[in-house]
Amino acid sequence: MSELQNKDQAYVANTYRRFPVEIVSGKGSIVTDTNGKQYIDMGSGIGVTSFGIADPEWIGAVTEQLSKVQHMSNLYYTEPCAALAEELCSRTGMKKVFFSNSGAEANECAIKVARKYAAEKKGSDCFYIITLENSFHGRTLTTLAATGQDKFHQLFQPLTPGFLHTPANDFDALKKLTEDYPVAGILLECVQGEGGVIPLEREFLQQVANLAKEKDILLLIDEVQTGNGRTGSLYAYMQFGIQPDVVSTAKGLGGGLPLGATLLGEKAEAVLGFGDHGSTFGGNPIACAGALNLIHRIDQALLDEVKEKSEYVFDTLKNAEGVESVSGLGLMIGIKTKKPASEVIQRCVENGVLCLSAKDKVRLLPALNIPFETLKQAVQILCAACAE
Ligand SMILES: *Cc1c(COP(=O)(O)O)cnc(C)c1O
Repeated sequence: MSELQNKDQAYVANTYRRFPVEIVSGKGSIVTDTNGKQYIDMGSGIGVTSFGIADPEWIGAVTEQLSKVQHMSNLYYTEPCAALAEELCSRTGMKKVFFSNSGAEANECAIKVARKYAAEKKGSDCFYIITLENSFHGRTLTTLAATGQDKFHQLFQPLTPGFLHTPANDFDALKKLTEDYPVAGILLECVQGEGGVIPLEREFLQQVANLAKEKDILLLIDEVQTGNGRTGSLYAYMQFGIQPDVVSTAKGLGGGLPLGATLLGEKAEAVLGFGDHGSTFGGNPIACAGALNLIHRIDQALLDEVKEKSEYVFDTLKNAEGVESVSGLGLMIGIKTKKPASEVIQRCVENGVLCLSAKDKVRLLPALNIPFETLKQAVQILCAACAE
């Protein structure tokens, strides 16, 4: 094992099973390791570097801000934070934004908003949040409680109480929960990411949205992974014909700098008041300046490109040898392979392609602007690995 790997294993908490790959630099969708070996990056740091590594325009926006002011407390105004909030609202119809630093924090804020909204309107015992089985909402004790996967819960009890889990696409079961419990919010991913890249059924999501409206329950959509162009629309909910009350996002929003955002719609915009919530780093001017540059560039042309690339990947993989099924939306793609996914991923690493996994699937989250030729090359290597 190399010196770096020894040092890392000796001193960094053992929470990640790392590949023996040491990345030192990158450009766009190509990253380079210490030995000079190049890889096509089909994971984008788990959907984070949405315009690739070292994107020059993003670097320009970030470094310009870096040389002005890198951080101010939230006691004062800074331009990038307000400008990004305005852009996010005008592109979504949402009314206000709370900035944080990660997906889990963006969800924490969404949950707090739902609880306070319900406490004020319906009383303080109306605190339940419904989420789906097989969902993923983060690693804090509250977002773990929201996450509908028991394997994440063991040994961390007691988690924050007040979460109810129900199967995806079973509207009657969800409706029953809203009859049996005083429910404040329903929190959903339009496409379950960590759960295996599985889109929700459109009809289910619409039924849930209607029910939430009828019962004045806040609809919270977790767009941490699906957001910011990933699925072929700015946010995935836009393809499902629903209007959420709260949208949480992170990952691709910052393009590589830590940034979370919780978008608040009409019902939710005035829920949080002075002192109700806060974050020292939230709305950091460097992260926001970079994000604003990216959001401006996620225009219709780029979204059409995402859809085209998505179609290419789906069409190629659907009929490929060793592939059982392909699921997902846009450039968020899950592949059920005949061989164990870990073996396919291992072979891809050897052959110069970095892929992710999600449950028992190979997961692809390439940069939105990955060149078509690079994408084709990666898919060919992946196909070969599946067929072996
Ligand atoms: C990654 C993810 C989170 C957690 O985000 P962090 O930034 O790791 O806290 C929450 N929800 C979804 C859907 C995610 O994919």
